[in-house]
Amino acid sequence: MTLRNKMTVPEGHFVVDVTLLRSGPVRIETDIPVDWLTQELSFCEYGIRSDHGRVTLVAEPCSGGVLVRGDITTQLVAQCGICLGDTPVAQKINVSTYLFPKVAAAAEAEEAELTPDELDKEWYEGDRIVLDDLVRDHVMLELPMNPRCGDDCPGLAAFEEAAKFKTDPDPRLARLATIDLAAKKEN
Ligand SMILES: [Zn+2]
Repeated sequence: MTLRNKMTVPEGHFVVDVTLLRSGPVRIETDIPVDWLTQELSFCEYGIRSDHGRVTLVAEPCSGGVLVRGDITTQLVAQCGICLGDTPVAQKINVSTYLFPKVAAAAEAEEAELTPDELDKEWYEGDRIVLDDLVRDHVMLELPMNPRCGDDCPGLAAFEEAAKFKTDPDPRLARLATIDLAAKKEN
């Protein structure tokens, strides 16, 4: 493969070769690269990383397009919103998505005076369907809004208490501790 091809054709981790669909369904059963998913989740509002993940998908020809069905399972580690401790998040997400060829998408979009991107439908172009965005989006949509480590979360106060003992106070701030705030108020 030339460099030019490499730059213009997205490689992708989860790829369906459309030419293989002519002879029947294509199964994609593979682990989700941990580094890739962690990177994809790096825009999350809280800290989260992937520990393990797997996709089990079947792509099959359907009404001129491609139906992708199956599931995505992940083991993630999120940051508890209260104590900031590691919080395991296990996901099992059902996937059922219909993609249709870009030529059909373009025709439909033109009719509605939109671009294919503005259509609320998934489409693909050429002989390779890269499912990376689909996998990422499904994982993102199923993330908890406020991860909590559990009912026995030690809480932020306990976290601060632990942090106080772990680190020596900044010597530049030591003088602040000697200021009597109550006495100042009375003046
Ligand atoms: Zn917690």
